Amino acid sequence: MKELLTRLTAAFGPAGREEEVRSLLKQELTQVGGPDAVVDDLGNLIVTRGKDADQKILVAAHMDQIGFMVTFIEENGFLRITPVGGIQAKSLPGMRLRFGGGTTGVIGQEKLKAQKDLDFSKLYVDMGVNDREEAEKQVQIGDTAVFDAPLVMEGNRYIAGAMDNRAGCTVLLETLRRLPTDLPQSVCFVFTVQEEVGLRGAQAVSYRLNPHFGLAVDVTRTGDTPEPQFKTPLSLGKGPAIKIRDSSVICHPRVTALMRRVADQNSIPHQFEVLEQGGTDAGAIHLSRAGVPTGAVSIPCRYIHTPGEMVDSADLENGVSLLLALLQTEWKW
Ligand SMILES: [Zn+2]
Repeated sequence: MKELLTRLTAAFGPAGREEEVRSLLKQELTQVGGPDAVVDDLGNLIVTRGKDADQKILVAAHMDQIGFMVTFIEENGFLRITPVGGIQAKSLPGMRLRFGGGTTGVIGQEKLKAQKDLDFSKLYVDMGVNDREEAEKQVQIGDTAVFDAPLVMEGNRYIAGAMDNRAGCTVLLETLRRLPTDLPQSVCFVFTVQEEVGLRGAQAVSYRLNPHFGLAVDVTRTGDTPEPQFKTPLSLGKGPAIKIRDSSVICHPRVTALMRRVADQNSIPHQFEVLEQGGTDAGAIHLSRAGVPTGAVSIPCRYIHTPGEMVDSADLENGVSLLLALLQTEWKW
């Protein structure tokens, strides 16, 4: 999976501009074979597997990543930016950004009386140009950028800027590759858009597909670092997490019970996730139409929404194993 994850984390895909990630996934999907993928009007990529059964599961992983959008270009060529998704201004000075066109910029900050007052209005991006005219040759108002943070592997761990959620995309694609064609229900794999700005792609695609059950695959925060901000027993390397709740969803108890049973029966290491802040596509899926029983598989990840997002390779493998086992189990109850 390393090679796939390397390419997916290198792809440019801030929320609303997922084209590069989508075309990379489409290329990979052609090698998997089977019916063609469908792209809806918002850009969600949909692949259906299994017979036309009366039970249908939607499995979603978002393609987009957090990023930045240019709001203003100063006379002297410095750019002003606004966040696309949840990013804390205080972590940004000195960071490198990469624009869609390939240009690199460095984030700087204005002088402040107190560093705690730092917000986006005090930050700027320096592209090494001398004035607005030169800047406009590289970027325009509304152009977007992402952290310039390609993948590296240290021990069993992968580190990259877009692990949220190319880790989930990798797990989904790898599951698709290994999944037999004979399934007890039909499964719609969806690579969604605009999760980071409010689960928007998942909302539209859930309406379209009208599934009986939903499952999201995304990353989640761990508590296995010195004095973590949020206390949680989740650790890297101890298996994918079965989500119980986050800010966007309380997972359906029958779905979590099924996930727990399938993980136990197949001896797949797993953990349980109660996330105090943050959401995922499951939040939009479960509220679609008249309601959809929904759960989520979460890949433990340290330093979420920074250039240092870190996951464990065994958690990715076990995430694939859990999904494969879940999708070969009949979901009727
Ligand atoms: Zn995510």
